[in-house]
Amino acid sequence: MSQKYSEGNTPKHFPPVRGELLFGEDLARYAWFRVGGPAEVLYRPADTADLQKFLQNVPAKLSITVIGVASNLLIRDGGVPGVVIQLRKPFNTISLAENTITAGAGALDISVARFALSNGCRNLEFLSGIPGTIGGALRMNAGAYGSEIKDILINAEAIDREGNIHTVSNDELQLTYRHCHAPKDWIFLKATLAVVPGKKEKIAAKMAEIAEARVHSQPIRQRTGGSTFKNTLEKPAWQLIDEAGCRGLRVGEAQVSEHHCNFLINCGRAKAYDLEQLAIEVRRRVHEQSGLLLEWELDRIGREEEEAGS
Ligand SMILES: Cc1cc2nc3c(=O)[nH]c(=O)nc-3n(C[C@H](O)[C@H](O)[C@H](O)COP(=O)(O)OP(=O)(O)OC[C@H]3O[C@@H](n4cnc5c(N)ncnc54)[C@H](O)[C@@H]3O)c2cc1C
Repeated sequence: MSQKYSEGNTPKHFPPVRGELLFGEDLARYAWFRVGGPAEVLYRPADTADLQKFLQNVPAKLSITVIGVASNLLIRDGGVPGVVIQLRKPFNTISLAENTITAGAGALDISVARFALSNGCRNLEFLSGIPGTIGGALRMNAGAYGSEIKDILINAEAIDREGNIHTVSNDELQLTYRHCHAPKDWIFLKATLAVVPGKKEKIAAKMAEIAEARVHSQPIRQRTGGSTFKNTLEKPAWQLIDEAGCRGLRVGEAQVSEHHCNFLINCGRAKAYDLEQLAIEVRRRVHEQSGLLLEWELDRIGREEEEAGS
C-alpha cells in the first residue's frame, strides 16, 4: 500500500507541494505491460508553478524520472528510485487557435486526435493510433501510418531540472526516427501542433482506417509495450526477429508476439525481468543470424529486484 500526502502534510524532507506525493506507489498498474516495481516517490504536480517550485527546491542529486502512460516503458521489478513525475489532469488541456492545436503533455494522443476531428482539423489523425501522451510523443518522436510528431510540431514547452521553462522550436528539438535531441532531464509541458481545416467525414474515415489497421497489425488488446526495437536501415525489426526464428519465443510468461514479432507480450504473470531477458535473447539471436545489432526503442527504467534489495 502506498502512502499518500497532499497539501499541508508533505513530509519534512520534501519541499511543500500542492500536487500529490505517493510513497511506494505500485507502477505496474499504470504500465501497459502491467509489470514493474514501486516508485520510491510518485509526484503528480498540481500545475506548472507547483512543478517548478518542486524542481527548484529538491536536492540536485535526487533522481527524477518522468513517465506518461508507460506505453513504451519497461519498468523493472525493483522499482524506480527517487521521484517519478507523472503529469495528470492539470496537464491535459487541449485548445484551438488559428490553424494550431495546443495540447498539454499529459493529454492522450487519441484525445488530441479526437479534438482535432471535432473541430474539423486534419493532419493529426495518425495520433489516434498511438496509445501514449503528448509528452511521450515528443520524447519519442512518435509516429505511425506515414506521419510523425516532427511533421506537425510548431514548438514545445519544457521545464529543465532547475525549473527553468524553455520554449523550443521543432528544429531545435532535432527530431529524428524515435529520437528527440532535447536534454534527457527536460520534462515536456505542452506542444503546439499545426493543423489544416478539413472535412470531418474524411478525418473520421481516416481515423477509422487507422483503428482497423491497428487491430490487424498490432496485439493492442494484450499487455505489451509497443515496438521493442527500432527498425534498421536494412530491414524492419519485426522481419529480422522473424528471420532469426524468434516469433512466439518465450521466457517464462513473456512471449514474442505471434501477431507482430517486434512486440513482446506479458501472457499473464511475467516479470519485467522475463520481458527484458527475452528481449536480450531476441537481440542476441538477431545479431547471430543477421550481423545486425538491434537498437532498443523500449525505454527501460528502474532497478532489478536484487539491486533494490541490496
Ligand atoms: C499497443 C501499442 C502500440 C504502439 N504503437 C506505436 C506507434 O504506432 N508508433 C509509435 O511511435 N509508438 C507506438 N507505441 C509506443 C508508445 O505508445 C509511444 O512511444 C508513446 O509516444 C509513448 O508515450 P507515453 O506517454 O506512454 O510515454 P511513456 O511510455 O510513459 O514514456 C516513454 C518515454 O517518454 C518519456 N516521457 C514521457 N512523458 C514525458 C514528458 N512529459 N516529458 C519528457 N519525457 C517524457 C519517458 O521518460 C520515456 O523516456 C505503441 C505502444 C503500444 C503499447
